[in-house]
This record gives sequence, C-alpha cells and structure tokens, in this order.
Amino acid sequence: MYDLIIIGGGPAGIAAAVVAINQRLETLIVAERWGGQTTYAMQLEEMEGREVITGETLLDTFRRQLDYLDFVRSFDIVTKVLPEEHNFVVNTARGDCFEGRTIIVATGAKPQRLNVPGEARLTGCGLSYSATTHASLFLGKDVAVVGKGRRAQWSAADLARKAHRVYLLAPAPLPDTPLARRLRRMQNVEISEGVEVKEVCGEHFVEGVVVAMPDGEVREIPVKGVFVKLPRTPNSDLVREWINCDSDGHIIVDVYCATSWPGVFAAGDVTHVSEQVLVHIGEGAKAAISAHHYLLMH
Ligand SMILES: Cc1cc2nc3c(=O)[nH]c(=O)nc-3n(C[C@H](O)[C@H](O)[C@H](O)COP(=O)(O)OP(=O)(O)OC[C@H]3O[C@@H](n4cnc5c(N)ncnc54)[C@H](O)[C@@H]3O)c2cc1C
Repeated sequence: MYDLIIIGGGPAGIAAAVVAINQRLETLIVAERWGGQTTYAMQLEEMEGREVITGETLLDTFRRQLDYLDFVRSFDIVTKVLPEEHNFVVNTARGDCFEGRTIIVATGAKPQRLNVPGEARLTGCGLSYSATTHASLFLGKDVAVVGKGRRAQWSAADLARKAHRVYLLAPAPLPDTPLARRLRRMQNVEISEGVEVKEVCGEHFVEGVVVAMPDGEVREIPVKGVFVKLPRTPNSDLVREWINCDSDGHIIVDVYCATSWPGVFAAGDVTHVSEQVLVHIGEGAKAAISAHHYLLMH
C-alpha cells in the first residue's frame, strides 16, 4: 500500500513526486514517459547571446532526483483508477494493480496543433504555443494568434500590449465575452473570423501566415510570430465519472489542489490552472504537500 500514487510524469507529476519523497511518503509515480508536453527554446534572429531558461532545464533539476530512485516509478499507462473503501486502486496497461491512500492526478492535456505545412519546422523559430512565455520576444513586431476561445483571446490581448500589430485569426466567430468586446476596440488588433490557416511560411524563421478568408480569398499576412491557441483536451477520462470537472473536462480543484473527492488531488494542465511549466511545478509541489497534510489528518 502506497501513501501516494501520482499519475503523470510531466512538470506537475515530477515536482509532486520529489516533494512527496522529501516528506518520506511511500510514493509511486506512474507515467507513460517522463517530461510531458513539448517545451522548446524560442530562437529568433536577433536573440543571440540572450539567456533562455527552458521548461526542460527547470524540470531536469527535479527529474535528476527521481532518476536513481527506480523503485518509486513505473513507466506504464494507467487504465483505471477507482476508490475502494478508504483507499484507491490503480490499474495499468501492463496488468499491474497498485493501492494508494491518496492520489494525485497530473495527466496533462492534449494540445491541438494546426497541422499545416511549416508548423513543425518553424516551432521555436517564431511559432509558439505560449504567449505567456514568448510574447515579450515580439516587442514592436507584427504577430498572429490562431484560435477563438478564452486562451486565444487572452494571448491576443497580452500581445496587443507588446507587439506592433496583432492579427487574431479565429476559425469561427469569437464567443461574445467582455475580453472579445475589448479586443474589438483595440486599435492594433485585427480580428478575422471564419478563417482557415493554410501554411506558416518562412525559410529559417516565421515570415508570414497564409490564410483562406471566409469569402475564399487566400491571403498571406506578413508576421514575425504565430501563436497557436486552439482548444486542448484535458486528460481527465480516468476520473471524470466520479470527480467534478468543468464543461471542458478540466478537473476542478480548490486552492490546495484538492478535488471534490477526499484524498484525490490534481495539478497541472488537467486542471483549469493556466498552462505554464513554472506554474505547474508549483502546483505539483502544492498537491503533494496537501496530500501529506491529508495523510496526517487521516
Ligand atoms: C507544443 C507546446 C508548447 C508549449 N510551450 C510552452 C512554453 O514555451 N512555456 C511553458 O511554460 N509552457 C509551455 N507549454 C505548456 C506546458 O508544456 C504545459 O503546461 C505543461 O507541460 C503541463 O504539465 P503537466 O505536468 O500538467 O502535464 P504534461 O506535461 O502534459 O504531462 C502529463 C504526463 O502525464 C502522462 N500521462 C497522461 N495520461 C496518462 C495515463 N493514463 N497513464 C500514465 N501517464 C499518463 C503523460 O505521459 C505525461 O508524462 C507548451 C505546451 C505545448 C503542448
């Protein structure tokens, strides 16, 4: 019987495991693989010499602490997790069955890519998935944001403060939110709704984006940065039937990372907390401390 079973080996799960081990909890981390979603360093033409701290560098410090503790980790896929009496039973694809007194769900989310020519090649060379991380590298430049939802709207508003011009390329009409209304009033934001991105172009760095407008016209917009903010799907299927989730499937947590089920905590992109490696390292640590406190009380 483990004190704590952590599901997921991304920033949230790895940080949770390190903190739990330091608290001397009998811990098991089950993850398909280490590292989670892609992190990469953004390289732009005039950036030489600028020091960049990547998510991977941050995570390495934590991962190194786990690498030699092979008894705390199992590289496997969790297929089922269910409450049983006062504990939880975790089943895996390789047929293992583990029991834990508490659980941390840190299974992340599936991002939606553009899937157009140029996307993979120019990722990190002007194409980004994180305005929070990279917007400040585009001061005074023209950029495009692809998406229509809350994350796309936030990114466009953030970039409007830093970039020269922001093209918000929405595949469908923007939901009418206070932020969308504000974006429509901003002088340096141009919103196009019902557009389809066809290509991200540029030889070594992003130089433009090719879009089909709703009237069928195909247009190339010259930009130095493209931010992809399409919907992502939280990996919450394992617990969605018995733990409260929002309408998009994010696990709802309180400020202590506690879910609606006592003894189950969640951290990272599977929750509604914003997608940032730095934030999720903290959220994972917080979830482990909360699990420890829960164990002290029960
Ligand atoms: C393309 C891309 C670029 C990004 N760029 C940046 C950036 O520049 N800066 C930044 O701060 N953030 C960036 N992000 C966001 C950041 O990567 C995520 O917020 C962060 O990785 C989330 O951490 P996490 O631990 O919650 O989940 P994840 O990193 O998604 O990790 C989830 C883990 O759970 C495992 N898992 C899932 N289901 C199961 C299961 N059933 N059984 C076992 N294991 C399972 C996975 O294998 C993985 O190990 C980017 C994200 C993407 C997709």
